[in-house]
Amino acid sequence: MTQLINLAYLVAAVLFILGLKGLGSPKSAPRGNLTGAVGMLIAIIATLVDHHVLTFGWIIAGMVVGGGIGAYIARTVKMTAMPEMVGLLNGFGGAASLLVALSEFIAPSASSAETMPWTIALALSAVIGSVTLTGSIVAWAKLQGYAEKAMQLPNQSLLRVVLGLGVLALSVLFIMNGWGFILFLLVVVALFLGILLVLAIGGADMPVVIALLNSYSGLAAAATGFVLMNNGLIISGSLVGASGIILSQIMCKAMNRSLGTVLFGGAMVSEEQMASIPGKEFYEGKVKSCGAEEVAMLMENAQKVVIAPGYGLAVAQAQHVTQELADLLEKRGIDVKFAIHPVAGRMPGHMNVLLAEAEVPYDKLIEMDNINPEFSQTDVTIVLGANDVVNPAARDDASSPIYGMPILDVDKSRTVIVIKRSLSPGFAGIPNQLFINDNSLMLFGDAKAVLQDLVRAVIEL
Ligand code: NDP
Repeated sequence: MTQLINLAYLVAAVLFILGLKGLGSPKSAPRGNLTGAVGMLIAIIATLVDHHVLTFGWIIAGMVVGGGIGAYIARTVKMTAMPEMVGLLNGFGGAASLLVALSEFIAPSASSAETMPWTIALALSAVIGSVTLTGSIVAWAKLQGYAEKAMQLPNQSLLRVVLGLGVLALSVLFIMNGWGFILFLLVVVALFLGILLVLAIGGADMPVVIALLNSYSGLAAAATGFVLMNNGLIISGSLVGASGIILSQIMCKAMNRSLGTVLFGGAMVSEEQMASIPGKEFYEGKVKSCGAEEVAMLMENAQKVVIAPGYGLAVAQAQHVTQELADLLEKRGIDVKFAIHPVAGRMPGHMNVLLAEAEVPYDKLIEMDNINPEFSQTDVTIVLGANDVVNPAARDDASSPIYGMPILDVDKSRTVIVIKRSLSPGFAGIPNQLFINDNSLMLFGDAKAVLQDLVRAVIEL
């Protein structure tokens, strides 16, 4: 029986890997998703067959309650709130690992071998689970706007080092002696460490933190797999851990940050940078606004138009009317492309998902590095609810909190039309020089309503 179960886990692992490979391209992604889901089904069935402690009654009750809550959340969560949900789900993963570790300590299951490696895995599961739990709650609170974006406590770095060393020392003590009260202390200190690791990170760096916490939740699950001697959990946890680290690294590269700084929870925005952010006076008397008809007239002479979408596109749910506009312009012989920034929106791939929903062809979505050289030959760029990802300060102003984050060089186009409702800042909370540039025009309003006007105006040309 054990051999059969391990074979099932192996098949599941192969399907997970094939599934991940499929997710590498938009075309094969739906198949990849399905492959991964079949793998998970096999793993779940194998685990159910292999159950030792719980009766099927408990297992089914857990699945009905958990599945019911999950289905409800999945149906009701808004697309714009996905990052908060992913943040919270990472935390649940961490909490599950922590709880399994604690319950295994109190009443080890029959499959557990209480050896030194088992105790090490138990400590790891408790520590990483705790850090993931509180770190994710802080990240969730920040994304929800409940917590300050970047918070600095006095001597925060020192405190982090002390807590880190505390976790290390308590882990060694616990592994050597197996004392319950040390495990309890270890969990408490790790919970505080999780808070401190994420507290200092803010501004535009949250996407990396979310990817990293996702990775931590996978590592916690892998450690739990060793505690429970469950090969399926070890493999799937390792895959989540590894893919999360790879994603974090890609995002760090996309934002010109070092993974080390994020890993150790360093403050990426200094207090001086926060203090130097200008207020409303930044725009006074310098903004030029226009109407949909003027923009339509600009289109009359344009040969090349680039649309740079951002978070506002998701808020307005303007993806369908955007595609309608793009179609109309193409029918007039204009070359239309979409410029995709890796962290536009509030989750990795946010813009791709939205535009795919409106059936914008994939070959029209051009990644940042490929589209940037094209802006200087672009007649009109429409910045559609994007802000931070087109802020030239990230490129030109060393004192800016987002300095170093690569941006879409939309300001290099002949004319830039910025569609947003007001002069409010984006996620990073800083003003944008783009809005007062000579070649920029603001078209104020909700993206969907404004684009509907624009479509009408282009039809009437
Ligand atoms: P920003 O958050 O910088 O700006 C979005 C802009 O959209 C706002 O300035 C807002 O202005 C406008 N907006 C909001 N609602 C509407 C609407 N209905 N119609 C028109 N405009 C609207 O978005 P970007 O996409 O440029 O940048 C993403 C930011 O989020 C980056 O700082 C990134 O680091 C961060 N982030 C990214 C994550 C990811 O994984 N992609 C995860 C977490 C954070 P106004 O209110 O005036 O309309």
